[in-house]
Amino acid sequence: MQDAPASCDVAIIGAGPVGLFAVFECGMLEMGCRVIDALPAPGGQCAALYPEKPIYDIPGYPRIGAAELVDRLIEQARPFAPAFDLGHAVTRLAAAEGGFVVETLAGKKVEARAVVIAAGAGAFGPNRPPLAGIEEFEGRSVFYLVQRREDFRGRRVVIAGGGDSAVDWALSLAEVAERVIVIHRRGKFRAAPQSAAQLQALAQEGRIDLIVPYQLHALEGADGQLAAVIVADLAGQTRRLTADCLLPFFGLATDLGPLASWGLALDHNHIIVDPATCATSRPGIFAIGDVATYPGKLKLILSGFAEAALAAHAIHPLVHRGEALHFEYSTMKGVPGR
Ligand SMILES: Cc1cc2nc3c(=O)[nH]c(=O)nc-3n(C[C@H](O)[C@H](O)[C@H](O)COP(=O)(O)OP(=O)(O)OC[C@H]3O[C@@H](n4cnc5c(N)ncnc54)[C@H](O)[C@@H]3O)c2cc1C
Repeated sequence: MQDAPASCDVAIIGAGPVGLFAVFECGMLEMGCRVIDALPAPGGQCAALYPEKPIYDIPGYPRIGAAELVDRLIEQARPFAPAFDLGHAVTRLAAAEGGFVVETLAGKKVEARAVVIAAGAGAFGPNRPPLAGIEEFEGRSVFYLVQRREDFRGRRVVIAGGGDSAVDWALSLAEVAERVIVIHRRGKFRAAPQSAAQLQALAQEGRIDLIVPYQLHALEGADGQLAAVIVADLAGQTRRLTADCLLPFFGLATDLGPLASWGLALDHNHIIVDPATCATSRPGIFAIGDVATYPGKLKLILSGFAEAALAAHAIHPLVHRGEALHFEYSTMKGVPGR
């Protein structure tokens, strides 16, 4: 027999940083949330991809570890007693009387007045470099994310890529690794300018090696343990770099999966929203965070936080029908339960 559907005011798909903050914003407007995530733990990319990486652009925190940010967001949401369905991938969304029914792969159903999609990159996975035999090394000496910085202490680490992940991890691992060697196919890095400048400064001080413009060419090693990374320049000239591990950071392969078939207006794996409300093309369904797009969108956690507030205000009349919403600061009445 199927369980009776759970019911809530707002169903939030995705327990990443932005979905978690949406619980707070909805809670402040007296709307109860249920948060559903395919992963077994909350935190989205922060928890799954870079728990130990410091984040420098969260207002009020000059520096905060990604895992700590997730803990703080959970603490901030706690007074509103959200229900969590973790380890449940949402596969279906159907209109129902007075709202929607969200259904998971395991057949769990959630009824809600409104739905907030905070699904980030969807079912995300790393872009893997096309190197022969790389599977043998994956998870043993080739890693697409850093779970524990300490695992790289005293090792020779080759980092490939030119974006934020490559540069941030090069800066961080330079403090613990025996040697950090950064490979990028261009001379210029796409990372935040200040981080890219720090990287160049470390290279000039001889504390890391920058090998540009080069790209990954082949791997050498046995039984899953890397011995060397072979890189090639644009003319095909190769160099052999002794290495214990390789960290290829070529971004995330994004796949909206079932969300793409829900009849929402899309733009390249992102959901198009009205930037004033985060409403999608289907009334009652909102999208926030990395999954949402509009002109000028910045894929930053702080943009997602603001979008959570906009969506909550736009959802209020759907949940509290006929009640006028008088905008107030959170400091006027405080947070319930505190
Ligand atoms: C290495 C790295 C470093 C970064 N550094 C910074 C930084 O310094 N500052 C910054 O602002 N941003 C940074 N970012 C970007 C930041 O992590 C994202 O902007 C942020 O995670 C987006 O949050 P989100 O909640 O929208 O999505 P996500 O964090 O992607 O979370 C989405 C969640 O939705 C779930 N989900 C997806 N589809 C389904 C489904 N069908 N059913 C159920 N659950 C589903 C996923 O499992 C996931 O948990 C970085 C990203 C990376 C990869």
